[in-house]
Amino acid sequence: MIEGKEALLERVALANKIYGNTRLCFEIGEVLPLPTEMLDLISRNDRNSLAENVPSPGKMIQVFLVRSARDVDKPDGWIAGVHWQYGGKQKMQEKRRFIILSSMHSNGETLAHELGHWFGLQHQKEVSNLMCGSGFRTGILLSKEQIKILHANREGALERKEIEARRAAGE
Ligand SMILES: [Zn+2]
Repeated sequence: MIEGKEALLERVALANKIYGNTRLCFEIGEVLPLPTEMLDLISRNDRNSLAENVPSPGKMIQVFLVRSARDVDKPDGWIAGVHWQYGGKQKMQEKRRFIILSSMHSNGETLAHELGHWFGLQHQKEVSNLMCGSGFRTGILLSKEQIKILHANREGALERKEIEARRAAGE
């Protein structure tokens, strides 16, 4: 269960540990409340309407922390999180993509896993890998090949101004 900024900070700290040997490092920007009627997502349309109702922060990975989210491909299923590309009708939202995190069904690593998708990683079969897509994941490893992909997609995201480069302290 994730409630409030404190719990979110823990997830980000874990993500930073997992991505420790990559060029990726995450910090929390602004945390804003989501309207109550947007807290439980059922359809694709519900996911798209997040983008239609909440502006993009710009140069940041937007994460929507909802109470629950249905699996839109499996009736009666729930998701822990998803990297979602806007698929609604508003032209201006076309390229919007963001992470949806379910407070009810996510665990410690869900945010890190979705960040992997955000940076272009696909699902892996090995259960010890962070990108294992099944609920039987046992580890949080990233392979050298995956780290290469992360770095390439980081460059692409910087070029598209989806994120911005920050200098680490003392650099
Ligand atoms: Zn996944």
